[in-house]
Amino acid sequence: MGKIIVIVAPSGSGKSTLLTKIKNKFPELCESVSYTTRSKRPGEEHGKHYFFINQKEFLKMRNSGEFLEWALVHGDYKGTSKKFVQEQLDLGTPLIFDLDVQGADFFKQAFPKLAKVIFISPPSLTELEKRLRNRKTESEESIQLRLRNAREELGRMNDYDYNILNDDIDKAYDELVRIISDILER
Ligand code: ADP
Ligand code: 5GP
Repeated sequence: MGKIIVIVAPSGSGKSTLLTKIKNKFPELCESVSYTTRSKRPGEEHGKHYFFINQKEFLKMRNSGEFLEWALVHGDYKGTSKKFVQEQLDLGTPLIFDLDVQGADFFKQAFPKLAKVIFISPPSLTELEKRLRNRKTESEESIQLRLRNAREELGRMNDYDYNILNDDIDKAYDELVRIISDILER
């Protein structure tokens, strides 16, 4: 049976940076690509980072039951393809997901034995704001919304299987490699 690894972190914590490195280190891990109504950031590709669709398309998919789970995150819809996950689990493929706390909670409830959730924390809200600003991908409104949501999400940091502090990126990466090796029994 396949394994499910869910990575959760407040926006700007460094989750995407770490995930890019992790995918190179563990090529056997298959990433689920979510559907979203969010606009594409520079450098993002349709089908690689997300499937970018409009709200009408998203709601149609949602209403016909095509999402295993979906959530409204920072004002945009995000959803996980049911068909993709079912197919990969049937094949026994280890899967990795990049989700918010709602998605992580769904997987813990739906797959209590298979799903392991790793929370990545920033050193502080001040550092989180600095990282979001330095990334230069968000409007002021989006930064403020992400920071407000981060306060709530940080309250959940000890509710999951693992919690990694991303202060020094190399240290956080080494810890993540150790945890994923354990989960994959490598
Ligand atoms: P997320 O995917 O969690 O929203 P990103 O991976 O996009 O976050 O990281 C947000 C910004 O912070 C990026 O510009 C990234 O280069 C930077 N960053 C990530 N980890 C660190 C770290 N340990 N120290 C300083 N900057 C970091
Ligand atoms: P971003 O807009 O920065 O790409 O992502 C914002 C948040 O949405 C992140 O916490 C990310 O993990 C989460 N997210 C992305 N795809 C999904 C999904 O399919 N379901 C859920 N629940 N959250 C998602």
